[in-house]
Amino acid sequence: MIPRRPTRQVTIGDDRVGRVKVGGDAPVSVQTMTAGYTYDVDNCVAEINKLAAAGADVVRVAVPEKKDTEALKDILPQVRVPIVADVHFHFKRALEAIDAGVHKIRLNPGNIQDRKQVEEVIAACKEKGLPIRVGVNEGSIIERKDKQKRMKELGGVFSDSRHGHFLAIMITKLEEYLDIFYSSDFYDIVISAKSPDPTLVIAAYTEISKRFDHPLHLGVTHAGPRETGAIRSVVPLGHLLASGIGDTIRISYANDPVYEVEDALEMLYCLELRERKGVDLIACPTCGRIQVDLFTLVQDVRKKLADEITLPIKVAVMGCIVNGPGEAEGADVAIFAGDRRGIIYVQGQKVANVPEEQILDALLDECKKFEAKVQSGEARLGEKVVEIAPPDPIGELGSGFDKIAAGQVESTGGKVTPLTVTGR
Ligand code: SF4
Repeated sequence: MIPRRPTRQVTIGDDRVGRVKVGGDAPVSVQTMTAGYTYDVDNCVAEINKLAAAGADVVRVAVPEKKDTEALKDILPQVRVPIVADVHFHFKRALEAIDAGVHKIRLNPGNIQDRKQVEEVIAACKEKGLPIRVGVNEGSIIERKDKQKRMKELGGVFSDSRHGHFLAIMITKLEEYLDIFYSSDFYDIVISAKSPDPTLVIAAYTEISKRFDHPLHLGVTHAGPRETGAIRSVVPLGHLLASGIGDTIRISYANDPVYEVEDALEMLYCLELRERKGVDLIACPTCGRIQVDLFTLVQDVRKKLADEITLPIKVAVMGCIVNGPGEAEGADVAIFAGDRRGIIYVQGQKVANVPEEQILDALLDECKKFEAKVQSGEARLGEKVVEIAPPDPIGELGSGFDKIAAGQVESTGGKVTPLTVTGR
């Protein structure tokens, strides 16, 4: 286990939706945000419930207008996950959201210029025992009203490519903001310091983690589309989490937020910071030895197993037997493809040899049988029963290294050319 940085702990939620602890010894939680309008009650409820079903521990909603905070009264009774109200500019939205029964407030004191208004929000949260996330995100800490001050600050930022001056502003602002909270004897605080720049995200959170003991909400803001945003997010967040920094995370994409939850969870599983739920799938990238349409098969397997298997069974989908058995070492269920067919192994034992069109159903069937055995105590996850005996490449799979080495593998006639990957 990666040793985590010691922090205070806050609790988000109540008896009805459950309580998510953030910081201290709590597992790293996953947050996301709805993409639709909060005032559109039915759609908002549907989106929250979809995100909770995908694995989000906490869901945030924007409340830019009074009609949004009014909608919260109808939304909250229909959801079963803690809800955070995202407040910008108007402190009254925060007070209305607290009154409606949200479980946490996200506030950037820099966007609410009057200290008394911030203190009013703090007092309301304190009374109800709600935590507040304090943001010093890159986009909101640079002075905008005082143009001279802003120019001075921006000048410092752009003259220092190593973020030094910017970090100084960030820390100064954070100290300024926290002073408002501490003066009100309020410590149920989570801090975020997001930026679209991954290196600044690493530098900012590392610096903040040395100075404050509040739990940290990690994120890369405006990360972009999933295709590039995934790397932009996972690199800095993975680095910080592997260093023990970070207590709750949000990945943000210009896409369906379900992807944010899926990718955040996968990152935490990979770092062993959360116990995996569902199948742990590995697959070969294919190469010139492939004789089935593995790309399509892998996508189909991923979707089917995600829907039907709940235990963290390790599944390997391998394109051939040349490297397949070695690479599938440790898999509970593995399939090695040959010439338009596949052989399935369960914990090293060969259990099926089927034509390509039956691979998906046969694999699902074997996974279900294996899951039932694990649930009944007949089998244990990750326990190899016998060493994998590679299949006879020609007799069983109709191909293989002997045939390949001898140049005997027939042309597939273009039928198994990797197809466009059909993602969700
Ligand atoms: S398992 Fe076989 S087909 Fe897949 S990448 Fe390795 S050698 Fe190529």
